Amino acid sequence: MDIEEFRRHGHDVVDWMADYLAKVERYPVRAQVKPGESAAKLPEHPPVEGEAMETIFADFRRDVLPGMTHWQHPRFFAYFPANASPPSVLAEMLTATLGAQCMLWQTSPAATEMETKVLDWLRQMLGLPAGFQGVIQDSASSAILCALLTAREKALAWRGNSEGLRAARQLAVYTSTQTHSATEKGVRIAGIGSDYLRKLPVDGSFALRPEALEAAIEADKAAGILPACVVASIGATGVGAVDPLAAIGRICRKHGLFLHVDAAWAGSALILPEQRWMIEGIDYADSFVFNPHKWLFTNFDCSAHFVRDSEALIRTLSILPEYLRSRETGQVIDYRDWSVPLGRRFRALKLWFVIRSYGVAKLQEMLRNHIAWTETLAAQVAAAPDFELTTPPKLSLFTFRYKPAAVEDPLELDALNERLLHAVNDDGYLYLTQVRIPLGGGDRFVIRWSVGQTYTRERHLQEGWARLREIAATLAP
Ligand code: PLP
Repeated sequence: MDIEEFRRHGHDVVDWMADYLAKVERYPVRAQVKPGESAAKLPEHPPVEGEAMETIFADFRRDVLPGMTHWQHPRFFAYFPANASPPSVLAEMLTATLGAQCMLWQTSPAATEMETKVLDWLRQMLGLPAGFQGVIQDSASSAILCALLTAREKALAWRGNSEGLRAARQLAVYTSTQTHSATEKGVRIAGIGSDYLRKLPVDGSFALRPEALEAAIEADKAAGILPACVVASIGATGVGAVDPLAAIGRICRKHGLFLHVDAAWAGSALILPEQRWMIEGIDYADSFVFNPHKWLFTNFDCSAHFVRDSEALIRTLSILPEYLRSRETGQVIDYRDWSVPLGRRFRALKLWFVIRSYGVAKLQEMLRNHIAWTETLAAQVAAAPDFELTTPPKLSLFTFRYKPAAVEDPLELDALNERLLHAVNDDGYLYLTQVRIPLGGGDRFVIRWSVGQTYTRERHLQEGWARLREIAATLAP
């Protein structure tokens, strides 16, 4: 493809992109395909000769699109959002065009310096402490891993990386039962072992109980195990639990533990001053992550990781072979030292576009809307006969279940709600997911309703709720 052809196809693609976003509501939210159906449409062998872009693009629309779940759909209420936005998409196009590899300052000076600058904008927007320095990771999972590795090295007096863990003291990591599975994955990869991840009990609002943390640390110490790190959640995945950071932080300080805060989803809401109560005690934290790629209108992937002591992170991750040295080594930020992968995309650009295009005030307004619409809907669910609000709204997330009076047996209720969830998602008008939470003495199946799409308006929640009730009525015993 020559540059003039690229220009022509580029215009066609952008036209399609605008039409897609304008009409995304017409698609079923969750892909309505069976396993293998998408693969069956793709040729078994690669083409020997190049094909026309018109043909490739037509095949994309005909064969690929039906197999896609539409994350930008305004009735996407599943998981947590991955809300992209037009300014972010434009920046992604420029990032792809530049095709820059931003591993060193020298390989991308403006990208490196913009990353430092926009992460500090985010720090200010969220009300994080002045000493925190930021880096963009590909995911919160990577940030958690980097935090755990730093905690491990600090606990082992920086000997784990060089000597390995065989002769080292056994370490322990503390978190709550609500923590994301990324914590366990990180603990495994860091060589600490998931048997030494203490998933501590929570209180009635699903928050980690500080006295349980203190007791677990004391018990490990008495058993000769070295407490290394706490991973606290601000807005945990299941029902949005918020751990008490100040109390946890005081315990970390007392026992010399590293504190990582996982605010992957809820961190975006900290741009709202009224939500900052969630990080009271953040001054105790060593590391904090949130994902602008979830709820801050920035395309996946973009995970903002802040650390109090960047030297500790660099000491943990840095290896400097000759081929990565530059004249500026040691005098500038080389972000390759701040994350697991060496290669890095120019991700700061989309944040810069998003924050400048919307401005903080508009971003705040959009998040406040999501939260207010969710609260209204949760109140309607609570008031609806045959439905039960199982956890109250935490920001823009609540859980509920269908509970017709005729069904009393908890296992039957679980099965009914599972059927309802499948029926709703097969219908395609809206998309929801599930979680199990302790309820009435057992772990019960409930449905999560999570709001945060760029194109969602209040009517989409109301339309979705109306359709869900219609479908539920068809399943009533
Ligand atoms: N932490 C929390 C609370 C999450 O909700 C998620 C994902 O939904 C993660 C961590 C993992 O995020 P990522 O996909 O960026 O690794």
